[in-house]
Amino acid sequence: SKQGRVIQSTGKWYKVAEKDGDTIYDCRLPGRFRLDKKEVTNPVAVGDNVTFTVESDGAGTITEIHERENYIPRQATHGRRGEQILAANIDRAWVVQSVRQPKLNLGFIDRFLVTCEAYEIPAGIIVNKMDLAKKGDEAFVEDIRELYIGLGYSFLTTSIHNEESISRLEKELKAKTSVFIGPSGTGKTSLLNAVQPNLGLRTGEVSGYSNKGKHTTTFATLIPVSERGYIVDTPGIRELGLVNIEKSELSLFFPEMLEPREHCKYYNCTHTHEPGCGVVKAFEEGRIDPDRYNSYINILQSLD
Ligand code: GDP
Ligand code: ZN
Repeated sequence: SKQGRVIQSTGKWYKVAEKDGDTIYDCRLPGRFRLDKKEVTNPVAVGDNVTFTVESDGAGTITEIHERENYIPRQATHGRRGEQILAANIDRAWVVQSVRQPKLNLGFIDRFLVTCEAYEIPAGIIVNKMDLAKKGDEAFVEDIRELYIGLGYSFLTTSIHNEESISRLEKELKAKTSVFIGPSGTGKTSLLNAVQPNLGLRTGEVSGYSNKGKHTTTFATLIPVSERGYIVDTPGIRELGLVNIEKSELSLFFPEMLEPREHCKYYNCTHTHEPGCGVVKAFEEGRIDPDRYNSYINILQSLD
């Protein structure tokens, strides 16, 4: 048997890239796997590591699905029960923002970071279009660079017109599985094309035609990039959906709140109005950034 990585799925067939080779196999999935995992609509996800055997017709049969390090869920679409997995085993998720056109949005970044914390996916921030930076923008970007690096996140500034910044990005993608998330127009496609000029992204792979005939699903695809790295191409996904987080749990996903929240008087403190709150105290003492606390409040208010 062989080891491989699922790089594409049509719901019935899976394209599996051999781990230590260049061959891509079309693999089937025995029915028992579908029965095993009723809670998810796709038992094998793009990004899964699998063991498979090659049959006499040249196609493969998946015999084992290895445990996932992490995965990005996607809310099941109309009427389907359970969770659908968009992609599995992500080494890093990048939120792509542009310094201008469109303007950088700290709220978007923080919401994304909370989601990554909840999914246990290492996260990074890319601020693109640095060539459009105006007076004051660079200093602002350096401030937030310091902030986010201090919190443990990766941070890159890029411009598709600056080769050096593109090779820095390329280095970050090497031998890793990465995903780019961000609002439309921030330059995600341009950046991916810049690191791998022949990618030809967004070819519009649409599959998973349901038997009702009305409903199609677009699956994610892994695209090879930068020396054994992969980019998860997520057609139409611009934002990660926030998982069901309890209000009193939200601060668990703000790394700078982990220590302060230990000092809260109430175990279910939301760090807003409660007396004896360690987080509010830390904020008042300048140990929590005001923009971050503001994002915390905004996300808190958006929860149920
Ligand atoms: P996406 O929607 O995030 O995939 O964004 P695109 O890659 O389609 O880029 C949106 C627009 O921004 C296009 O017109 C790109 O040429 C432009 N763009 C992308 N990156 C840069 C950059 O670094 N600098 C400048 N000035 N424009 C950029
Ligand atoms: Zn508190």
